[in-house]
Amino acid sequence: MKMATKKVKQQARNVLQETFGYDAFRPMQEEIICTLMDGKDAFVLMPTGGGKSLCYQIPAMMRDGTGIVVSPLISLMKDQVDALTACGVKAAYYNSSLKAAEAKEVLERFESGDLDLLYVAPERLLSKGFLAKLENVKLAMFAIDEAHCVSQWGHDFRPEYVRLGELRDIFPNLPMLALTATADEHTREDISDRLNLGKAKRFVASFDRPNIRYLVAEKRQPLTQILQFLEGWPNCSGVIYCLSRKRVEDLAVNLQRHGIRAAAYHAGIPGRSREKVQDDFLRDRVKVIVATIAFGMGVDKPNVRFVIHHDLPKSIESYYQETGRAGRDGLESEALMLYGSGDVNLVRRLIENVENIDQRRVEVHKLNSMVAFSEALTCRRRVLLGYFGEALDEPCGNCDICLDPPETYDATEFAEAALQCVREVNGNFGMGYIVDVLRGSKNARILEHKHDQLKSHGTGADVNADEWTSILRQLVHHGYFIQDVSRRAAMLPTKKAEHIGTGEPIMLAKYQPGIRRHFKRLGTPRDEALFKKLALLREELAEQEDVPPHVVFSDVTLTEMSQRKPVTEDALRRISGVGQHKLEQYGSAFIAVIDKHVASGDGKAAKRGGKEIPMLIAKGPGLNETQTYILAQYRKGVSLQDIAAAQGVSDTTVLKHYVAIIRAGQFIDVPAFIGDDFDTLMKELDDADPYASLTEIKRDLSVELSNDEFRLALAWREAIGVA
Ligand code: ADP
Ligand code: ZN
Repeated sequence: MKMATKKVKQQARNVLQETFGYDAFRPMQEEIICTLMDGKDAFVLMPTGGGKSLCYQIPAMMRDGTGIVVSPLISLMKDQVDALTACGVKAAYYNSSLKAAEAKEVLERFESGDLDLLYVAPERLLSKGFLAKLENVKLAMFAIDEAHCVSQWGHDFRPEYVRLGELRDIFPNLPMLALTATADEHTREDISDRLNLGKAKRFVASFDRPNIRYLVAEKRQPLTQILQFLEGWPNCSGVIYCLSRKRVEDLAVNLQRHGIRAAAYHAGIPGRSREKVQDDFLRDRVKVIVATIAFGMGVDKPNVRFVIHHDLPKSIESYYQETGRAGRDGLESEALMLYGSGDVNLVRRLIENVENIDQRRVEVHKLNSMVAFSEALTCRRRVLLGYFGEALDEPCGNCDICLDPPETYDATEFAEAALQCVREVNGNFGMGYIVDVLRGSKNARILEHKHDQLKSHGTGADVNADEWTSILRQLVHHGYFIQDVSRRAAMLPTKKAEHIGTGEPIMLAKYQPGIRRHFKRLGTPRDEALFKKLALLREELAEQEDVPPHVVFSDVTLTEMSQRKPVTEDALRRISGVGQHKLEQYGSAFIAVIDKHVASGDGKAAKRGGKEIPMLIAKGPGLNETQTYILAQYRKGVSLQDIAAAQGVSDTTVLKHYVAIIRAGQFIDVPAFIGDDFDTLMKELDDADPYASLTEIKRDLSVELSNDEFRLALAWREAIGVA
């Protein structure tokens, strides 16, 4: 039995390497594959980007017969099949988008046993005729992708999914796998019930998406804020969510006016045009999609670099789903939410109209959780994961609060002034009015109520209106006041307000306008010029083959190529994401571009004195846990500074780990790290007196380096065999 598992694992690893070009399985993938190879059912709960697809693709290829994959959306099926075909896997889809002749061909291939994977729409699969056909074909297994579509609790219920529960009875002997990225427990239970998966082995991964940086900013001038944010992501793909169709259209036009390749997407746009927008986005012709929440399910784009919420999402579940569309490929990404109190009041008013009391209560609760997240002064990721019952041991180091903790100050005096004012106006006025009175305005409304004669009138004139709003909002958030939704959000003191000024000082976060974004994002350490050339080639090949660019190679693969600059087939094969089939298809074209780049002198990192620097070959582990983690982060393109921040250590410590990683035979792109001075440095080290001490050598260098940078350079020389 043990032997058998070992053999299965080895086989699975071979497929992973040969077909998909990856070195190692991600957490849980191997176990899931073994469960299915063992003929058992599995229920997989893994976040977007976790690598769910391989969990059924590999066993479907390894088991006899065809694996049937149920998928809710036609566009997703085509995408997956394109990606598999590019890796040389025999896969096809069968749905209503096929013309009669194409459908016939697919069915013929299926019946003759030529397919490893067949993607089918649920209603097709469960039609009488098709079920009958299945009896005569050898099947490997069933996979139900986006399994939450079966549940009404979920965020994307599809009635066609409901009958999938029958499959377990009709085919009692075939292993079945259900997969979803749903984080909420209620929906998970419902899926398991409806699909008859009570006995299936459950695999629950962490729902943390460490490569997504969460940012929340006060919404002031959204267009300006968004344009400023986009400057940080030139030429990258992203999605901006807005609450209404009108906002979607206005913002899209405004962005276009500023030269951004943006397009609008909402349910009011005719189907054809919507499909075109999606397709243009997938193929990188459109960079930014401005959309209502109608957008998302059908788009499986790995290199979405940012998601912006122009308006408040309606719940934390939606926020998690929507931001989760960023960074599927594991490279660093950002989620920015613009948070305005106007939005909160708008949603509150909408909720007031909900007739059913229970439902209203649920919605109020969801909104309050969302507001709490937005106004949190603790690590965002903690709040987010905490909502789904997952604890984070340490603050994440990759959210606005962790990177730039808000300063707090004693705001007791302001709270006292606010309390006095609210009492004086008898709890009949909203936040904006209170601010006006405190600031000493003499507008018509104030004069009409004779409120210019109140004691509190003008007591806060030295604080500007935005700051006052921020103070009042925080006081509401901390429970000193409530905004009575039934009376146009009039401010009322709570019981807690009685303690204002009597005991503990009231600490509030300092008001910081604009996006807090002076933390560095140094980006991926790669040869940008080469990356651009490779991306251009990828675009041409994709165009020729009529597939999205990422089907040819992912951004991760191109990044690694631009770092390691492989110029032989063997070296290229070692790049993550380069399997046998793609090597044969595209290998020579990519090698040609890299070769030319290196020869032109642009690629100084890989050449020194006309000699190619040998690729470093992994010597096996030799790394401790921290170093393994750091290497993984480095490979994802996370910068040194960000790794240090996430680990809560200094840059120097990370550099020391880099040295150990290089010594263990793994690749860190030191030339790129040192930058322009690299050649000079190497030359000076070549010429250095072999008997001098390291301190002396370092002192005589013209290039200025810290001790750790110096050690890094030496480790590099050792590794490539010149020291
Ligand atoms: P999900 O369906 O869970 O959102 P995908 O199956 O689309 O995730 O995988 C996300 C990305 O990770 C894809 O680009 C995929 O090729 C890549 N990936 C999956 N498994 C591995 C692995 N073991 N090693 C490297 N990359 C992987
Ligand atoms: Zn954090």
